Amino acid sequence: MCVSCRTAAAGPPLERFSFNSPHMGTLFTITLYATNETFAESAANAAFRRIAALDEIMSDYRADSELMQLCDQPFGKPVPVSKDLFDVLARSQEISKLTDGAFDVTIGPCVRLWRFSRKRKTLPTPQELAAARAAVGCQKLKLDARARTATLLAPNMRLDLGGIGKGYAADQALKELKGRGIDRALVAASGDIAIGNPPPDEPGWKVGISGIDVKTNDTAHALLLHNCGISTSGDTEQFVEINGIRYSHIVDPATCLGLTNRIQDTIVAPNATTTDGLDTALSVMDVQRGLKLVDSMPGTATLFLKKDKGQTYTFPSRQFKKRFPNFSPN
Ligand code: ADP
Ligand code: MG
Repeated sequence: MCVSCRTAAAGPPLERFSFNSPHMGTLFTITLYATNETFAESAANAAFRRIAALDEIMSDYRADSELMQLCDQPFGKPVPVSKDLFDVLARSQEISKLTDGAFDVTIGPCVRLWRFSRKRKTLPTPQELAAARAAVGCQKLKLDARARTATLLAPNMRLDLGGIGKGYAADQALKELKGRGIDRALVAASGDIAIGNPPPDEPGWKVGISGIDVKTNDTAHALLLHNCGISTSGDTEQFVEINGIRYSHIVDPATCLGLTNRIQDTIVAPNATTTDGLDTALSVMDVQRGLKLVDSMPGTATLFLKKDKGQTYTFPSRQFKKRFPNFSPN
């Protein structure tokens, strides 16, 4: 459906268009304002092509992705990488530093173990966990910005960009649209969203925050946002239950175990690469450490939802309360 709107400055009316396309195991949706459908569609297609190209670089499901080819190289050898792979790895390392290692793209061996556990419905053995942990740790990934190389410093390492790649792709898609003159746009990769200028004559885009047990986009409980990223992380959809305990697909790098706390966090920051990386980290850090970190970061706000004995508790950060004083969760 298209809605015509007049821009404040005189000019042809802008219409709203929406497109979607499956990538990275999820559905990407692009909503944008443009003066005509042909222009809108060709810009959206270019943005989807950019996302598809990034999937070929960052996927851990495709054996031939640039990321997996990097992991196949002998350890200790500096490997030249593309600008995109370097940039997303460099941002990942920055987020590891900020979060004391709660976010860690070297987590691959642990994530792999948990994928097996999910299939087998049994916990990994202590030996399996020890072997995985020996190949995990952000200090084991060395980046050289001048030579644009990545070096894996230990054997059997496996990088996993599942906690940041969708946010990076959403940011890059938004940039592609901007390059084509479309700046009133929103790119959503499921829970990771990159947001440009607001719709015409509106203060921002409405983005809903769902409850901890339900996936809805209830815009009655929406935030109004522009020029930022927003991500929500939680175990609503992806978890495994073993011996009555529910383990999340997010793994604590310190233990290599899937998280067992029932927690969901929504984070708003200057871009979606940051929000995607941080939402994964904040789940590991839990409420108190997470709020402390977010309150120290400019332009960053978070809302935690935590479930305990059937009750849901909400914990907004200082900046969240200031920025969204009227927000009430459902
Ligand atoms: P979703 O994919 O549900 O949006 P996240 O953005 O939180 O959720 O990413 C979860 C994915 O991140 C996992 O499937 C895994 O690939 C990866 N991952 C799990 N634990 C960590 C961690 N501690 N640090 C970095 N990446 C992680
Ligand atoms: Mg994430």
